[in-house]
Amino acid sequence: MAKYEPVIGLEVHVQLLTATKAFCGCTNQFGSAPNTNICPVCLGLPGALPVLNAKAVEFATLAALALHCEVRERSIFARKNYFYPDLPKGYQISQFDKPIAEFGWIDVPTADGSMKRIGITRAHMEEDAGKSLHDGFHDSGTHTYLDLNRCGTPLVEIVSEPDLRTPEEAFEYLTRLKEILLYTGVSDCNMEEGSLRCDANVSVRLKGAPKFGTKAEVKNVNSFRYVRAALEYEIERQIEVVESGGRVIQESRLWNAAEGRTYSMRSKEQAHDYRYFPEPDLPPLIVSAEFLAETRKKLPELPEARRVRMIAEYELTEQDAHTLTASREFADRFEAAAKTSKNPRRVANVLLSEVGGRLKALGLEQENSPVSMTGIVLAADLLEEGKISSKQLKQLFDVCFEKNEDFPAVYEREKPQQITDASAIESLIDQVIATNPKQVEQYRGGKKTVAGFFVGQVMKASKGQANPALLNELVVKKLEG
Ligand code: ADP
Ligand code: ZN
Ligand code: MG
Repeated sequence: MAKYEPVIGLEVHVQLLTATKAFCGCTNQFGSAPNTNICPVCLGLPGALPVLNAKAVEFATLAALALHCEVRERSIFARKNYFYPDLPKGYQISQFDKPIAEFGWIDVPTADGSMKRIGITRAHMEEDAGKSLHDGFHDSGTHTYLDLNRCGTPLVEIVSEPDLRTPEEAFEYLTRLKEILLYTGVSDCNMEEGSLRCDANVSVRLKGAPKFGTKAEVKNVNSFRYVRAALEYEIERQIEVVESGGRVIQESRLWNAAEGRTYSMRSKEQAHDYRYFPEPDLPPLIVSAEFLAETRKKLPELPEARRVRMIAEYELTEQDAHTLTASREFADRFEAAAKTSKNPRRVANVLLSEVGGRLKALGLEQENSPVSMTGIVLAADLLEEGKISSKQLKQLFDVCFEKNEDFPAVYEREKPQQITDASAIESLIDQVIATNPKQVEQYRGGKKTVAGFFVGQVMKASKGQANPALLNELVVKKLEG
């Protein structure tokens, strides 16, 4: 196995979340009744002329910038000619030698924990084809149906350099790519609905060999896990072919999830098979400096940069930063709430350890949490001000999760008792000091951290009701005294 090195490059198609299609005014929406969002343009009826959707250009540009691409000032649409029943025009409007964007990258974590920069060859605009429906009709055994609603849906295709070396890196690349696209808001990246689709190209070569081997392309794998599994299978298969003296042939293959293997689909077409030529019905696409600057302003803080900033700002672990930035919407809600609090770090802490911990234990998602962001801020502030102890906080959260109630309501009702009477706390401290002479000796011998032991013991003796700030202060006073 270690004799060989896999080489992987990914092609990802992403549907853009525009209201209308790429070249006509039809609604761009998943799930409409078949053949209801269609018109002469997207059906390719004779004489119908395409008009480019400005929003699609904006979204493609936004995606390109987020992927650190250079955006071409003048790009050209081309016809990619092929016959297929779901392509009534007989060609797809795409971009060929002058795509809107090139030379980008994404940083991806690798097995040893370091980051690796994966090149993005190009991101080009094109339109989607319709869909052949092979199942679900009473006569599906003998008939195929066509739904042309998807014809003309705007896409960007993002092509990576052959820089990936393991199925895991490919998985990470896709995860990061999807996250970036979701943050920019250009696509919902819903793989079940086909808004994000991936073709995986893979070859193997002897380690250290100067040239790449012949690649196979695994088409349309519909989850990132399956991409990883398909690549693992395909790498094994190709190694076996080479080991047994054969040659890998350039072809398209299909992933069969049920069997966990790929099948040969067809020999791979070459670019010249498509007889690309410039689309005569569309002028060159000009992306002006002004448009580019305006679009750049719409770029949000991207996930990786946001994690780096939040790790510093809220003193988070890498893992916690991932949890908080899982979606832009969630990260925004957290940060907006944290800003209103007395101590944003504490909000992060309460959210992650108290709420996050309970959600995890119950197998619940954030959106199903009984405790709102407002509730978390209130809890963090009460803790910060010493109005409740951390033990009381835990008890209150237990009630929230038991009764499926938000924190403010539970707090109002239960209003936990607090002992703020110094002499009452002092007498508890005296008892604990009297029963733990060894720890007193340690403290007085210079081991100041033992104070924490006393705080804990007294808090326990007070049933979690001692005012934490006062307790801390009095413990030190007593021990020093
Ligand atoms: P094609 O013309 O067959 O579509 P491209 O050169 O356009 O091939 O590359 C398509 C994808 O395949 C890209 O993501 C690229 O990185 C990847 N790729 C190219 N050559 C190889 C190879 N030998 N092994 C693995 N991946 C490759
Ligand atoms: Zn249309
Ligand atoms: Mg290609």
